[in-house]
Parts: sequence; C-alpha cells; structure tokens
Amino acid sequence: MNSVFRPAVDRMAGYAPGEQPQETGWIKLNTNENPYPPSPAVVEAIRRTAEGRLNVYPDPLATSFRKVAARLFDVDPDWILPANGSDENLTIIVRTFCDAGDRIAYPYPSYVLYEALANIQGCPVSRLRLNEQTWQWDAPDAESLRKSVRLFFVPNPNSPTGNRWTPSQLQELLPDHGVLVLDEAYGDFCSQPHRGELLRQPEFDQRLIVTRTLSKSYSLAGLRFGFAVAHPDLIAGMQKVKDSYNCDAIAIAAATAALEDQDWMLSNRNRIVATRERLAAALPSLGFHTDPSETNFVWTRHSSGQHQSIYEQLKARKILVRYMRFPDAAPDGRMVDGLRITVGTDAEIDTLLSVLPEAVRIAVS
Ligand SMILES: *Cc1c(COP(=O)(O)O)cnc(C)c1O
Repeated sequence: MNSVFRPAVDRMAGYAPGEQPQETGWIKLNTNENPYPPSPAVVEAIRRTAEGRLNVYPDPLATSFRKVAARLFDVDPDWILPANGSDENLTIIVRTFCDAGDRIAYPYPSYVLYEALANIQGCPVSRLRLNEQTWQWDAPDAESLRKSVRLFFVPNPNSPTGNRWTPSQLQELLPDHGVLVLDEAYGDFCSQPHRGELLRQPEFDQRLIVTRTLSKSYSLAGLRFGFAVAHPDLIAGMQKVKDSYNCDAIAIAAATAALEDQDWMLSNRNRIVATRERLAAALPSLGFHTDPSETNFVWTRHSSGQHQSIYEQLKARKILVRYMRFPDAAPDGRMVDGLRITVGTDAEIDTLLSVLPEAVRIAVS
C-alpha cells in the first residue's frame, strides 16, 4: 500500500519519552524532574496573569522574560530566545540551520531526541562515540565530524552519563561550517555554573548556542519553558523560524517569576546535590558502579549486568527509574545499558535504598 507519509517520517521510530504514570502512589525517579515545588512567586504570577487579559495574544518576544534571563548571563536581551520548553528550541535550531541532507552530530550515549529531530528534517546523523569508562571521545573522530557537520548537539553536563566537558574539549566540536549547541538542561546542577563567559570566548567565533530549560532546576517541567542564549545574529535567524506566539502569557509570567527567585532555585539545587552525593555513596555497597555526576541524576551500572530486571523489580514496588540501552555504543558494536536514577527527596531516596537490596537479589537470582 502507498503510504501517505513523507518517507523520512515513515522510516523513523519516533522519540519515546520516559513513563508518566497518571495515578498517584509512584516514586518517580525516571525523568529528572525536580522533587520540590516551584517558587510561590511562580504560582502568584500564574494567578495574576489568569485574572488579567487572556483575550489578547502574548508578547511575541517575551520581553519581560528576556530581560531577566539576560541579566543572569550578563548579556543584552537580544541574546535570549524563549521557547515552549527547551525541546522547542532544539527543533527551531534544526529548522534554522539545517536543510534536508545537512549532517547533524551528537555524542553517544546522550540525548537521542536529537536523532528524531534530524530524522524529521531529513538530515543524516553521526554519533560521536564516547569511551564507555571515561565518557571522552577520540580526537580524530571529533576532528573528522567537525569538518562535515552543520550542527553539533552536545548536552553539557551530559545525560545519562552525568559528566561535564571542559570549554577546551568542547572547542574540538565547533563545526568548521556550522553551529555548536550546548544543551545545558542540567547547567544549574554542576559545580561551577558559567554565567555566559563561554558565549563571549572568541574561540567559539559566535557560533555557539546555549540552551537552558526551566523543567529541571526551576521545578517547572509541567509548564514548558526554556530559552536559548546566543549572539544576536544567531537569535535573529531563529526568530524568523519560531511560531509567532510560541510562549503563552501564563508561561511567560511564571518563567519570569521563577528566574527572579534565584534563592528558591539555588536552595533546592543545593538540597538535590547533597542527596545526590548520599545516593552515590550508598550504591557501591549494593554492587553498583556509579559515575561522578554534575546533574540531578546518577548513571549507575550493576556488576551483574541485570539492569532491566532491577528496573522491573523496582517498578513492581512502584518505584520508577529509567532503564536505558544504547545499541552499538561500544567499539565492537555491543550495546551499553544501565540505570539512570533521578535524585528525589531524601525520603524518596531512603525508600529506594531500602528496597534496592531485595530488588537486586531477586533480579540477579
Ligand atoms: C530534560 C532535557 C531537555 C528538555 O527540556 P524541556 O525544557 O523540558 O523541553 C532537553 N535536553 C536535555 C539533555 C534534557 O535532559
């Protein structure tokens, strides 16, 4: 039968996000949400906006938000592009910089959504293989990709591995004829967050885009808000591609209030980092090897290799973690798999740690 779909859409599998059970009673440690609520100022801003003028279109540029975000990165507001979630900015970026046929690269294992976005646009994809122990790439691989790609997507810190690459390492990935995108969804959780210095380094030649989300550090995954920071020339091009009103009035007001309350975000961030270290310290005695993390999750592998069964045992006890497998991730074509565990509240992590020994025992038997 003849398909009505574009061949590119027919061929692709589509991105599968983590499970979102709609009933209560789950301990959800699978999609890197923040376990703490957003700032009360956010709720107040939503109420105020809802009582205001929802009959008119919102500010197409979200000017109030751009001003606050610009201050955080020490840039002018025309360096900021707000979006309906960071994922929308990733879509806008692909549509702005890549024609069908232009090559897109990303490190592997990392965020496989990039691959779906490339598929939709008809762009071939190259994976930059990371060493399974160190999560570093081989310089010659980076070198050859740099010459051929239009767009390099790099989550920094990376997901699911949790590590962060240095500015000089990232420079190795700046495409000769294209743009480097640092997807900093976890940028607020790392040990020394940058405040825009990176964007002003001449080495990046104004071909660097940083993307941020309010979903993780600001506890607003349900709101859908993210923003890009880049040289105004790049932002101006992206503005031509975005929907006219890509952010709604309620989201703009809420996001602005969230960024204005840095104390709230930072105190939750500090709690999460402390819990993360406690979780990481407890896992080795249960047979797990855990990589150091600069994020709000840990990537861990059990000596038994029984990751899927451990995941299922936890799920049977209403604890959701993310089982992830990356086909062809090892040099010999083996898959790499493991568990990505989001850092929840102390109580949630205590519950996880109390049931893990039994889950592991049953899974490996
Ligand atoms: C969570 C996440 C995103 C998505 O952010 P949204 O603003 O919720 O769309 C993007 N990139 C990475 C690496 C993420 O982990």
